[in-house]
Order: sequence, then structure tokens, then C-alpha cells
Amino acid sequence: MDRKYPRLVIRRDKLRNNFTQIITRCAASGVSVAGVVKGAGGLPEIARLYKECGAEQLATSRLEQIERWRGAGIEGPFMLLRVPGMSELAELPRLADYSLHSDLATLDALNSACAEQGVTHRVIVMADLGDLREGFWDKTEMVEVCCHVEQGLDHLHLAGVGVNLGCYGAVKPTPENMGQLVDIARAVEARIGRRLEIVSGGATSSFPLVHSGAMPEGINHLRIGETALLAKDLQVDWGISDMDYLLRGTMRLEAEIIELRKKPTHPVGETVIDAFGNRPTFVDRGMRLRALAAFGRADVGQVETLLCREPGMTVIGGSSDHCILDVEDCPRALRVGDVVSFDLSYSHMLYATGRTDMAVVFTGA
Ligand SMILES: *Cc1c(COP(=O)(O)O)cnc(C)c1O
Repeated sequence: MDRKYPRLVIRRDKLRNNFTQIITRCAASGVSVAGVVKGAGGLPEIARLYKECGAEQLATSRLEQIERWRGAGIEGPFMLLRVPGMSELAELPRLADYSLHSDLATLDALNSACAEQGVTHRVIVMADLGDLREGFWDKTEMVEVCCHVEQGLDHLHLAGVGVNLGCYGAVKPTPENMGQLVDIARAVEARIGRRLEIVSGGATSSFPLVHSGAMPEGINHLRIGETALLAKDLQVDWGISDMDYLLRGTMRLEAEIIELRKKPTHPVGETVIDAFGNRPTFVDRGMRLRALAAFGRADVGQVETLLCREPGMTVIGGSSDHCILDVEDCPRALRVGDVVSFDLSYSHMLYATGRTDMAVVFTGA
């Protein structure tokens, strides 16, 4: 085993459980799943596992991650989630089988790139149903653009339509807004005279509709990352308590203690601003035993929101490469060199897997 710290320890068995549970439940509602791996930095081991568990496509927001999957010999089809930039269009058809779109000029330019390469690429046109990130706001315009792709762009195949909710505007997917997407799909189908293969109803935030059996007929695809990778947000942040078939603790961060000492809890001297331009406030709790762990914001983003797995331990702060822990109340007698571990939220996972110097270890069958 790799003894380099900090490191991420990822439980393959728990991920397999979550992927299988989600895919099976979606299948029972007539929904196929694009396995989204961008939250875990596109780690190829996780992409492969998701595919083995039955993901219809593998999806990420970055072409570089798809290139890595291809290099690792992972089987597609692959889906690019972020609407492509003009600068990505030459690479896109070579790397991805599907991409999401919300701009007519980009679709025209992609068609030209595909024509030059003599290939056909599948596109999903996105509707904005209130979350206010990507997607057509004017649904008449959207239907026209879909017809233009179908009839005017020979090197693009209109695979379907989609929506994203719960990302920027935190808008909750409901039978009503899902129904609006189905209506758009039916309007496009009436104009082009054939069925669309994909009506993609969103991401993790749409899964509760499958869970509760309320997903409207006609939605046949979801793109799911977060809840499969961490199983935390829906159960903890949304308070859905009967989702215990998804296992938490799929990955943890382990780090080494490099200093252990009783120190004051209030800084001594005149205080200005910290390394990140903030003016912190401190509560004087007297002298307490604290540990320094060898990782920091550069590894996980915000350290204060990490969940300590060590009983009695709390995170009191940090800087780029240090995490400061209050360990006064820990039953275990900690020593320098001991390893402590933390459960992660989505943003921690995103930062940690995005670092090239983070050791990653897989455990579990
Ligand atoms: C990130 C993303 C997803 C997956 O989101 P999760 O919350 O991780 O399930 C799906 N679709 C699009 C367009 C995305 O950008």
C-alpha cells in the first residue's frame, strides 16, 4: 500500500453498491444513466467501475478526462457535459460521442468540424427550465434549433433534449418541470417526424423523483455523479432518510500529524488579515491541545467543513498546506506521525482528486 500522505482512500465495494443501486432503480423507471465522474476528477478506475455496473454512457465536463479514459482503454460511449467552447470543437468529435448544446453558432461550427473529419457526432440540445445556467430560455427557439440540427446539419445527429436543474439556481426538479421537458421533446418529435432517443431529465437532484416513483413517463435518461460518488447530499442535505441503500463513506482523506502541542486558542499580538485576505475572529478558550496535519486548502478547498472521523476532533482552521485540529477532547492519545482521517463533501472530493500529487488508494473488492 502507498504510504504517501495525504492520500485518498476509495472504497470500491461501496461505489459499486451505489452505482448498481442507482442504475437498477432508474432502469425500473425506464431511465438509463450516464455515469458522471467529474466530481472525482474523472479517475479512470471509477469510470471503469461505473461502466461495469451498467452506466449507459460515461460523462464529464472536461475533454482531458475523456482523453484519459481513452488512454486507459475504457469503453464509451463518452458524453461531454459542459457546452463546448469553439476552441474545443476540433477535438470534440474525436474524443466524445455525445455533447450537450445551447448555442446555434457552436452547433453550426461543430457540424463543419465533423464534416472536415468525415464523422457524425451526437448532440443533446439543452432547455433552461429556471435554473439559469446553460440552455435555451425561449422554447420556440429551441425547437427551431433542433429542427435545424435535424434537417440542416448533416454531420450531427440530434440524439435528444435535456435539462439541468439544481446547480446554479438550486431549482428543484418536480413532475411539473420534468413534464415541460417531455413536452418540448414531443414538440421536436412532431416537427422532425421521429422519436428522440434521449430525454435527459437532469443530474443527482432529479434522482429523488426516481426514488419516490414520481418521475414522469417520457424522461428516459439522467446524468448522475454526486449521489453515486458520495451518497451524501440527498441523504444529509436534502434529508431523504429512506435512501439508505446508498452507502456513505465511499472515500476518505488520510493525513499525517506533524505537530502536536498545547497552544492558546486566541492569537497573541496585533491581528491583521490571514493568508487568504480574510479577517478571522477567534474565541478565547484558553490553552488547548492542537494538532497540525500535513494538508490544507490546496488539497481540499475549505478545511472547516471537513468531517473528522477521529472521535473528539474538530477542524479549527488552516492555510494552503496546513490543517489545524483541536484534539483536546480526543480519547485517543495522538502522537506526531499518527494518521487521522476525514469524510469529504463534493467540493473536497473535487479539489482532492484534481491534484496530481494526491495519492489515491482503492480498497474493497
Ligand atoms: C455535473 C453535471 C451533471 C452531474 O451532476 P451531479 O450533481 O454530480 O449528479 C449532470 N449534468 C451536467 C450538465 C453537469 O454539468
